[in-house]
Amino acid sequence: MKWSKLLVPTIKEVPNDAEVPSHQLMLRAGLIRKLASGTYIYLPMGFRTIRKITEIVRQEMDAAGGQEVLMPSVQPMELWAQTGRNVDYGETLGHFTDRHGRENVLSPTAEEVATFIACHEIKSYKQLPINLYQISFKFRDEFRPRFGVLRSREFTMKDAYSFHASEECLHETYMDMYNAYCKIFQLAGVEYVIVEAETGEMGGSGSHQFTVPCETGEDVIVYTEDSKYACNIEKAPVDAVAKAEPIADAPAIEEIRTPSVGSIETVCEFLKAKPQELIKTLIYKTVDDEVIAVLVRGDNEMNPEKVTQLLNGKGCELANEETIEKVTSAKVGFAGPIGLAEKVAKVFIDHSVAAMAIAITGANKSGYHVKNVVPGRDFALEGDNVVVADIRNAVEGDTFEGKKLLFKRGIEVGQVFKLGAKYSKKMGANFLDENGKQYPCLMGCYGIGINRIMASAIENGHDENGIIWPISIAPFEVIITPVNHNDEEVMQVANDLYNELKEVGVDVIFDDRPARGGVKFKDADLIGIPIRVTVGGRGLKEGKLEVKMRREAESENVDLDEVGLRVCQMVEQLYKEITGE
Ligand code: ATP
Ligand code: MG
Repeated sequence: MKWSKLLVPTIKEVPNDAEVPSHQLMLRAGLIRKLASGTYIYLPMGFRTIRKITEIVRQEMDAAGGQEVLMPSVQPMELWAQTGRNVDYGETLGHFTDRHGRENVLSPTAEEVATFIACHEIKSYKQLPINLYQISFKFRDEFRPRFGVLRSREFTMKDAYSFHASEECLHETYMDMYNAYCKIFQLAGVEYVIVEAETGEMGGSGSHQFTVPCETGEDVIVYTEDSKYACNIEKAPVDAVAKAEPIADAPAIEEIRTPSVGSIETVCEFLKAKPQELIKTLIYKTVDDEVIAVLVRGDNEMNPEKVTQLLNGKGCELANEETIEKVTSAKVGFAGPIGLAEKVAKVFIDHSVAAMAIAITGANKSGYHVKNVVPGRDFALEGDNVVVADIRNAVEGDTFEGKKLLFKRGIEVGQVFKLGAKYSKKMGANFLDENGKQYPCLMGCYGIGINRIMASAIENGHDENGIIWPISIAPFEVIITPVNHNDEEVMQVANDLYNELKEVGVDVIFDDRPARGGVKFKDADLIGIPIRVTVGGRGLKEGKLEVKMRREAESENVDLDEVGLRVCQMVEQLYKEITGE
């Protein structure tokens, strides 16, 4: 490919609305452009990388027995109502009404459609197992699209769905997918860790997440100090903290006026107290409209996934102002646990709250808090609708099974799930076994974010001059940079090398633009082509060309007639480092 024929609009300045390096560099290198919040256009250089990642994914999915299909991205809402996910997915589900008044979903994932296929096409155990996958656009109306393509509203996902007659068979395919994912991330040249994960809106019995460790990642990975256990913070279990020594003759509760003070920080400031001396009382509403209360210590974060587990998989979200005021008889910010159990369907109390000797809480009265609250004395720690459990996020200092917990940030690039019969039962995807008995198919699903692989490769592969791609997903493997486009000999040598490399199958770009050498070097570094050959200058007069790897500071001077061979060796070496072969 000749640069002069390509649309590569590079930018010198760092765009000020891009917070993370991958977003900044994808814009600066002319890989993407923003169309609207959370939607991006892939320009030619960017799309070459997308295609390369897609090809790696397709190759490994085919090798693992997947069959490629393509499902519609506009799906009938009725299908989603069959599984209840029209509600569970919440506001993230994009939808529209068509001209005939029919409601449609913009596919954020495709379990329902995959199960629809199983319903209609699978009759007998003889047709199982089957593993169908697609690579297509997904739409999620993310609350806060950010970090460029890392959390966008429209993105490319590889999603796969497998169906089985037995738990063992599901496990086998689950492990095949798990291993295929390892191979995919290895071949794409990104470092990854695998952690146990929550199943979220997908549901089901087991899940692993593939995460690229990186400072800017939105996910938090929690692992024990011996590294024997690792999981997403959404799932990370913590040991109950030791119960504080009870205070002998603890004083009775006392109301204190805290006018117009609401948040934990402001209450602490006003009362000269520490967050860990407070109890945070949160009012939530489940998907079937039950109001529940959740108590965590002032310095802890409530973990919605853990609460969802306790609600047998039912999702919940913060109740609105009206509900909170009704339940607590006070304005938002003054909720407290005293007398609350009678007013809500359930009270979930974190272990660390139950372990407190004495605490400050909201008074269920606008403008007031109460101090000297003793858990167990002033509000119940047991009862029909009271549950003490692990419902908070792990924090520094926590242990699990006695082992210290450590934390690392990362980007989730893929996730695999064992869904079991959840979707099959609801939609009636059954098969007949050898004895003619009917059972629901067991199901697994497996997703990879193609765009996130691209962005996470940049997050971990860049320097102050630009991107440093793994060769397998770089837009081009090699760039030829003639320094003086007016010099006929220079252009001839560059063009000959370009043809030679193209002929042997090297993915090469020839920077034939009538621009200064310095500009071309800067652009080549910004876009991050792994190997650069410079043609011109003193070297050429001595019959040598300069060959340089993007990641190295040093270059090599290679005899003109050996350059082609040397470049091929380098390309091979870079691939070998990735495959480890
Ligand atoms: P997250 O927790 O980050 O919102 P998720 O767990 O909801 O993601 P899955 O339903 O597991 O995502 O989707 C499979 C894959 O699709 C993810 O592992 C991720 O790589 C990709 N993905 C999900 N949401 C987005 C998004 N908004 N933008 C880009 N890629 C995404
Ligand atoms: Mg996920």
